[in-house]
Amino acid sequence: MKRTHFSGLAALMILLLMNFGMPRARAWSEHPLIIYPVLKTIPVVASAPEVEVKSLLSFLMQEEEGLARLLAEQEAWSRANLEAYAPRPDALAFVATGNAEDILQRFFYAIRINPHVKMALYHHLPPGVDGSGREPVSPYELTTLDKLSEMLHTTYLKLNEGEMIAPILVLASANNEPDYGFDLGLFEDNNTYYGKVFGFGEQTFGNPNLPYGSQAPFHMGFYHESKIVFAAAPFLKRTFVEYRIHLYKTLATYAFSAGQDYWGYRFMGWAMHYLSDLSMPYHSSVLPGVGTLRMIWINLKAMLGLPKAYDNAVQLVSNRHTVFEQFQWMELRGAYEAGNFDHPFFRALENPVAEQPYSDWFPRDVVAKESYKKGKPTTKAMKKFFPKKLVSDPSFEVSGSPELENLLEYMTEEKGPESVNAMIDLIAERFSAYSMHNRSFVKEMLGE
Ligand SMILES: [Zn+2]
Repeated sequence: MKRTHFSGLAALMILLLMNFGMPRARAWSEHPLIIYPVLKTIPVVASAPEVEVKSLLSFLMQEEEGLARLLAEQEAWSRANLEAYAPRPDALAFVATGNAEDILQRFFYAIRINPHVKMALYHHLPPGVDGSGREPVSPYELTTLDKLSEMLHTTYLKLNEGEMIAPILVLASANNEPDYGFDLGLFEDNNTYYGKVFGFGEQTFGNPNLPYGSQAPFHMGFYHESKIVFAAAPFLKRTFVEYRIHLYKTLATYAFSAGQDYWGYRFMGWAMHYLSDLSMPYHSSVLPGVGTLRMIWINLKAMLGLPKAYDNAVQLVSNRHTVFEQFQWMELRGAYEAGNFDHPFFRALENPVAEQPYSDWFPRDVVAKESYKKGKPTTKAMKKFFPKKLVSDPSFEVSGSPELENLLEYMTEEKGPESVNAMIDLIAERFSAYSMHNRSFVKEMLGE
């Protein structure tokens, strides 16, 4: 009886916190900029021969029968191995029919992604890399989102079916794609026709009404919260990031073995996106820097009609998440644009921490675990090195503010240049870990 009562309180609190906690929820901003320096130092990728660009339609038509078998095995594996998995309804199974007209839709339904995804043939040009005279593509042709933010700062170049491209560019470009609408509107209560049939149930957490909110349970993984939190809020276990990683890894392995290297690299890049998201502390922890007891205390006060501490915690976690992403993105993009390849971010990405071998439990047991542990020190450092208004003032909304737009200048004025350096060091630590995670994955897929 007592436990039920407690569960109700805590579940309500955490649910609401998550509702407001993630206006952006992209983990790392502009993944290709981060993965590119890692891939450049992996010979099996950097010196791999060029591959032939192929549309998803052609790939699916050529491989339809093999994929039907593969996806059936993948589903069986997920049901047998993944905790809190949401089984794919049998009616959505991928069946070989030979019909080219609906094969893209059949595939999107079978892997349960937003059926409006674009799947354009293009590559994401890293700053400072020559575009070889290729024609630019509008970001609107790549994503289902209509608010593009950092995509407007990037150059995308058109590829044509049959032309040749370096695998590093395929991998790096694909590394951002899961943020282009793949996982939006997949839940029953998202008011989409496909969400009603995908079998993911009601949205686990995150605000179903925010444009980016509905992808959160696919890009975050909570595995290391205290037992009391899981007992109180068992829905926190319903994240689907391990499902996505295994699905795309399986598709990539299949594509390589079938000699479909372009799609091998593209699926592989998708898997690496989700793996990388977990290395960001705000994606592996419900409320980084807020202890379990404090969460319960804040909630109790809210239940007693004193919601102030509760509302404040919600606003602060949201602001910190946003500031962290913006700082990483501005600093890294600035280093590229200045040609500053000695920047600590590049050194960290080129110098991984000690390697641990990849396994199906690596995302949870290695990546999310260490990132969860970094939640507390990250929050502590942010409180020290960012202006108070941005990370410690619950009356301030960071998103859309001029302070966020001019983050580095604002920070330098208020906290001195040493605060910028301190945050660079903090993120560089995560980047060395990120580098190891992705290297282990590449080794698992491509060997030495
Ligand atoms: Zn993501």
